[in-house]
Amino acid sequence: MSKTFTCRELGGICDEKISGDTFNEVIQKGMQHIQADKAHTDHMMTLPEKVGETKEQWFERMQKEFDVRAQDEK
Ligand SMILES: [Zn+2]
Repeated sequence: MSKTFTCRELGGICDEKISGDTFNEVIQKGMQHIQADKAHTDHMMTLPEKVGETKEQWFERMQKEFDVRAQDEK
């Protein structure tokens, strides 16, 4: 069973859906999505100062959000 996040929920800039069975899968797909587009990579570069959160803090927060997220209906 997978869980779905939008690009925006991961800190991105669009509503593309990114789903995976594990937290790592979501992060990996999210990274691929972000790296495929310059607008996204530029945005991510400036994100830490915008949100005042380190990558580690972000990762921890996303892990928690993944844990509480409802699984996708199949
Ligand atoms: Zn996106």
